[in-house]
Amino acid sequence: MNEQRTIAYFSMEIGLEPAIPTYSGGLGVLAGDTIRSAADLKVPMVAVTLLHRMGYFYQRLGPEGEQKEEPIKWVVEDFLKEMLPKISVTIEGRSIHLRTWRYEVKGVSGFKVPVYFLDTDLPENSEWDRTLTHSLYGGDQHYRLCQEVILGIGGVKMLRALGYDRIERFHMNEGHSSLLTIELLDEEAKRAGRKSIGHEEVERVREKCVFTTHTPVPAGHDQFPLDLVKRVLEHPEVISEMKDVLCCGNLLNMTYLALSLSRYINGVAKKHGEVSRLMFASYVIDSITNGVHAATWVTKSFQQLYDRYIPGWRQDNFSFRYALNITKKEVWEAHQKAKNELIQYVNDKTHLGMEEDSFTIAFARRATTYKRGDLFFQDIERLRIISSKAGSLQVIYAGKAHPRDQDGKELIKRIFQLKNRLKQDIKIAYLENYDMELGKRITSGVDLWLNTPQPPMEASGTSGMKAALNGVPSLSVLDGWWIEGHIEGVTGWSIGEMNRKQEGSNDWLKDASSLYDKLERTILPLFYQDRDRFIEVMRNAIAINGSFFNTHRMMQEYVLKAYFH
Ligand SMILES: *Cc1c(COP(=O)(O)O)cnc(C)c1O
Repeated sequence: MNEQRTIAYFSMEIGLEPAIPTYSGGLGVLAGDTIRSAADLKVPMVAVTLLHRMGYFYQRLGPEGEQKEEPIKWVVEDFLKEMLPKISVTIEGRSIHLRTWRYEVKGVSGFKVPVYFLDTDLPENSEWDRTLTHSLYGGDQHYRLCQEVILGIGGVKMLRALGYDRIERFHMNEGHSSLLTIELLDEEAKRAGRKSIGHEEVERVREKCVFTTHTPVPAGHDQFPLDLVKRVLEHPEVISEMKDVLCCGNLLNMTYLALSLSRYINGVAKKHGEVSRLMFASYVIDSITNGVHAATWVTKSFQQLYDRYIPGWRQDNFSFRYALNITKKEVWEAHQKAKNELIQYVNDKTHLGMEEDSFTIAFARRATTYKRGDLFFQDIERLRIISSKAGSLQVIYAGKAHPRDQDGKELIKRIFQLKNRLKQDIKIAYLENYDMELGKRITSGVDLWLNTPQPPMEASGTSGMKAALNGVPSLSVLDGWWIEGHIEGVTGWSIGEMNRKQEGSNDWLKDASSLYDKLERTILPLFYQDRDRFIEVMRNAIAINGSFFNTHRMMQEYVLKAYFH
């Protein structure tokens, strides 16, 4: 085979382009950005995921914010090329046949990273087995475990069938793919001519595996009852023998499995590394702070500006430091262009009559309780006063709730109610179906990126990084990446202080009042009365944060610390 690769990257979801709906949010977008940077930097990578023929879902919102989920149809053949090899995996004692489809991510200089989408929708499989690669995060635990067998075990087998036999690193992007270790153990045992798996096999597999954890809360980690695992897997005895991958005696924890079989483990921001070390005290856990793929997330008007001032920025993201040379006038013009487009879009969708000169804030992210999307509305009266005294403001919301997250769905409805109460004073839009395309529009078109998660729940967060690359500063709680990216009044602003006591009961009120103070006394006055200094903050966001919080820098860290070390 003339296309050997040494690094295999496994992810349950990957956001490659807006028309391929095989991602749900941050994890998948990060996977896509990682692969795009690998292609730009010519890192010899191949990626594996599931086809998700029905996508995640299209979000419609009723008049009161009721979320309806619709399947997304996409024509696989329009984007992907079917490959020849077929393999099978054993699930519940029966053979499930698998084929794969190929997508190519092409880097700036033409280097390609192939992405393989595994597919069980074949006539030789039973009706139910055919659905196994249909929906991302759909179905119950049983469905999910079967999907993870296909991704991990089927993924390794498929790579071998495609001729990739020189892979030195298997990178698990979150625990969903950690069953790949079981297939690698099996390969090692076969190679050694042994029936059972011993210490040596475990050591050999560990030499090959890299694991990135993304979830700072124990409940966020996939785990499956051992009886289910015994029923589904072909060789469950391997797992029963590894005591440290079990939790509470009778649960297989996919994170523990990945942890105990990886040579290099990392969290996705410095703080998240610390939190992970507390959660998994018996492992050595490093951190590599996330980034975003600059050329994907920078809007047209800024691309043109960077092309003139910073030639080569697509290959060399460190050179965003030279953004300090761009005149304020041009930064403002590029920004205003993106903003006008966004406002036009919002007005087309909502008929709210948003204004191009009004200070515009965005809150766009998954609708789940810890992100606290309703914190902004804590004190409606105060918001009225701020907008009438400090300067007019308008807010753009977006975000999907997971289909089974009732609290998340309630949160959207609550935001709808609250925005109606402010209708006379502040224009607030909630846009449907937050996806990569809308994400790019919003992160590039607002004046301020707002983030209010409950610390320490935000592992990293990446949307504020997209905003920074478009000259949009953040106002955020000090959690995740913002602890590293925040320089008060220079790259943006903080809500609350660092070193707070975790999970204090007053955090909600304190954070809301800090948010209002910053808006009223610092940010709005700067925007309306000292525009030059506001633009300086915008430019710093590009130069100081854009030059660091990108996946080119991130990929170089993975290469040095995880892949070729
Ligand atoms: C970037 C992105 C995310 C991740 O953003 P967070 O900062 O982690 O909230 C989620 N969804 C979409 C569509 C995105 O583009």
